Amino acid sequence: MSRATHTVDVLVVGAGPAGLTVAHELALAGVRATVVDRLPVANRHSKGLGLQPRTVEVLDMRALLDAVLVDAVARIPDGHFAGLPVPLTYDRWESAHPYHLIYPQNLLEQLLESELARRGVRVLRSHELVGLTQDDDGATAIVATPDGEVAFRTRYVIGCDGHDSAVRRLGGFGFPGTSTDFSGVVADVVLRAAPAEVLTRPRRTADLLGEERGDRRNVAYPLVPLPNGRYRVVWAEYGGAVEAARPVTEQEVRAAVVQRYGDEVDIAEVEWASRLSDAAHLVDHYRLGHVFVVGDAAHIHIPAGGQGLNVGVQDAMNLGWKLAAAVLGRAPAALLDTYHTERRSIGARVLENTRVQAYLTHPAAEFDALRRTFVTLLGMREVNDRFAGMLSGLDVRYEIPGEPEHRVLGARMPDLALDRGTLFGRLRGARGLLVADAAYGDCAAPWADRVEVARGDLSRWGATGVLVRPDGHVCWVAPDHDDSPGHAKRLDAALRTWFGAPGR
Ligand SMILES: Cc1cc2nc3c(=O)[nH]c(=O)nc-3n(C[C@H](O)[C@H](O)[C@H](O)COP(=O)(O)OP(=O)(O)OC[C@H]3O[C@@H](n4cnc5c(N)ncnc54)[C@H](O)[C@@H]3O)c2cc1C
Repeated sequence: MSRATHTVDVLVVGAGPAGLTVAHELALAGVRATVVDRLPVANRHSKGLGLQPRTVEVLDMRALLDAVLVDAVARIPDGHFAGLPVPLTYDRWESAHPYHLIYPQNLLEQLLESELARRGVRVLRSHELVGLTQDDDGATAIVATPDGEVAFRTRYVIGCDGHDSAVRRLGGFGFPGTSTDFSGVVADVVLRAAPAEVLTRPRRTADLLGEERGDRRNVAYPLVPLPNGRYRVVWAEYGGAVEAARPVTEQEVRAAVVQRYGDEVDIAEVEWASRLSDAAHLVDHYRLGHVFVVGDAAHIHIPAGGQGLNVGVQDAMNLGWKLAAAVLGRAPAALLDTYHTERRSIGARVLENTRVQAYLTHPAAEFDALRRTFVTLLGMREVNDRFAGMLSGLDVRYEIPGEPEHRVLGARMPDLALDRGTLFGRLRGARGLLVADAAYGDCAAPWADRVEVARGDLSRWGATGVLVRPDGHVCWVAPDHDDSPGHAKRLDAALRTWFGAPGR
């Protein structure tokens, strides 16, 4: 039987937070991706629950934060590393949003999907990728649908299909990794009765930290309220055989709650439960030819510090605008390769820090000395700042040629007031932004279709001009101690490198 064939510019496989963010970034740039997901309906339950400060900033940069805040369960002003009793503080990072949000992942997915629908992009559900090949000109994806198999001929396939990614497997990406002896469970429950203090919303990270159970192998976390009146139960286990495929039983969930709270908390129903895997793997390449992997398809690790969803969204932010430029025919040759060079090192770093957290959260006594050492280290201002920057995503700094010593080059640009509006406000259309005085502004005129120009006081950042990419990272800076004419030349080079050849 012959298959129907559709020709599309970009096929996004997977409508989790990573896939929907890539598609949203493309849509903002005027590129309508085709998004497929094997699930017949959107997720009703939420795996991840936390949005880190950089994700909150990104949502603000795309005008989505107000909608998120309506349903956010709590705004937590500090973070933690491995649940150690030293709050991580975000002050050093000059963020307009120095807090993380408790906000269910499925609500973020719903929000992004409705934004996409508004822009004419619909998620094709019950569409499962089952085959993938590529050649010099593009890729062909075979997708199983309720009406039979369909072939998508496309320039780019974006694998956002999660931890057991078919794109990764069929695309030939290596995925080396290791395991620890950690396993865990998350479950959403309806409560019949519970004391008032158990039901209060968390206000700081200390309200969310775990507590060892009797045999020193288990760590039980406090109940977390969800927006729909449900509560999230979480516990972690160490040292036993990891049984990722074994379904979670209602009895296990009830026993975990009794061990933490005694009989005072009465569960009426366990609505959903899932096991956490102990695997830590990272793809060897984020791009192979016309195929890319994003989010959990590229990296998996234990959910220590709530980073998985957030790193996936940041991957998507990094790739989306570059891909749009490629589809629109204005990407410089090497632009798409920078997705791998910029993001793989971040994935590697997350694997490393979650591995360290797996040791530090292990309740066995032999880790006590390590815990005490880290408590001392995190009490030091500079160490605390660094860990807060790493966990929150606020410290990400890409290697970008230019003024290597300058602290803002490659870093995210914090929000600031401009002559018209704010920096985040001016990035809402996912275009570039040059903040500089008139002399530099004129240099950018041939890129007016891709780069906006604004004025603002950058003295706090030791600069008189910055060029900001659509993902909010600085790709050119004019330091305020030096007004050499070479900066204008370097600005021209940066515009060509990141935004392509000048327009007419
Ligand atoms: C129990 C649990 C708790 C977690 N808690 C947290 C947390 O608190 N904080 C945090 O940051 N992270 C957490 N994580 C991790 C976080 O949920 C993931 O990092 C995040 O979901 C990754 O997003 P993604 O879009 O890459 O992949 P996913 O969310 O897995 O989305 C992948 C999508 O691809 C679809 N798909 C899969 N295969 C195919 C195919 N062949 N064809 C078409 N579609 C396909 C799937 O149906 C799915 O919709 C948790 C994970 C688990 C399992």
